[in-house]
Amino acid sequence: MAFVADSEQDKFHWKKAAEKLGSHWLEWHDTLPEMTERSGALTRQSARLDVAGLCAHYQQQWMTQGRYLKQEIQWEELEFKNGYWHWGHIRARMLVFCHGAFARGRKPQEVLPFHLTRGELLSIRVSNPQHMPSYIVKKKVFSIPLGGGVYRIGSTYDWNNLTPEPTEIGRESLLQHFCDLVPDAGSFEIIAHDSAIRPTVGRRRPFMGQHPEFPQLFICNGWGSKGASLAAVLIPELVSCMLHGTPVHPETDIAVYWKK
Ligand SMILES: Cc1cc2nc3c(=O)[nH]c(=O)nc-3n(C[C@H](O)[C@H](O)[C@H](O)COP(=O)(O)OP(=O)(O)OC[C@H]3O[C@@H](n4cnc5c(N)ncnc54)[C@H](O)[C@@H]3O)c2cc1C
Repeated sequence: MAFVADSEQDKFHWKKAAEKLGSHWLEWHDTLPEMTERSGALTRQSARLDVAGLCAHYQQQWMTQGRYLKQEIQWEELEFKNGYWHWGHIRARMLVFCHGAFARGRKPQEVLPFHLTRGELLSIRVSNPQHMPSYIVKKKVFSIPLGGGVYRIGSTYDWNNLTPEPTEIGRESLLQHFCDLVPDAGSFEIIAHDSAIRPTVGRRRPFMGQHPEFPQLFICNGWGSKGASLAAVLIPELVSCMLHGTPVHPETDIAVYWKK
């Protein structure tokens, strides 16, 4: 993946970052490979995770094993008795609530201060894929090659309009930044336009840990715009908290919101 740097300030920033991390991780290029007259920093030792594909794969696998149920559960339907949570015929010693943006204002998580952000994405098919870099490029937007001349372009940040539908403003903004990023892409057709609400938090740290009022209930939320990348590092802490009673990282611990 390349971070394109146009301004002197950007160049200074990415050159410094490359020096600090070393070329094993980040390489500065006065001219990026496969791009015309663009400078930037290229990440090494990195790959793209197809999160949607990964989730779909596990859902399918767990469904066939009878370990996954796709169903909406309301707080009022849960009952805690004899040391277990009960929901219909299912009982569980512990529960983890990971409702994403749906948790805002809902019991028993209503004290958590979400600052939700809507994001939009486009999938486009370009007429000149041979003029496109074969790796991910990022400046104001990212462009991810998906194969067959198809690219995923994202994303927008909107804190005001939290309706779930994609918007014309979002589409135009993405296309404008994409054309600035890769002017040689040629003509293109839009094949998908998606929108979703990010469960963002003002202090930019996820919400994790044991619920102060229900010790057998845990929260895993507030992953914001970087959830897919952060979860791999932080979720083992939540698992350890559940199994061994160890604390989660203090910056993520939800307990502070109940003390106020
Ligand atoms: C446009 C966009 C681009 C992004 N790009 C990146 C990126 O490049 N890298 C990165 O690391 N992250 C990225 N993210 C962020 C990442 O996708 C989020 O951090 C992540 O989706 C949050 O995950 P979550 O599981 O907490 O919430 P969600 O993905 O919202 O999942 C919550 C789930 O809970 C279910 N649910 C809610 N209420 C109930 C209920 N009562 N009963 C049953 N189920 C319920 C919902 O149906 C949903 O499936 C991006 C997000 C967006 C919107």
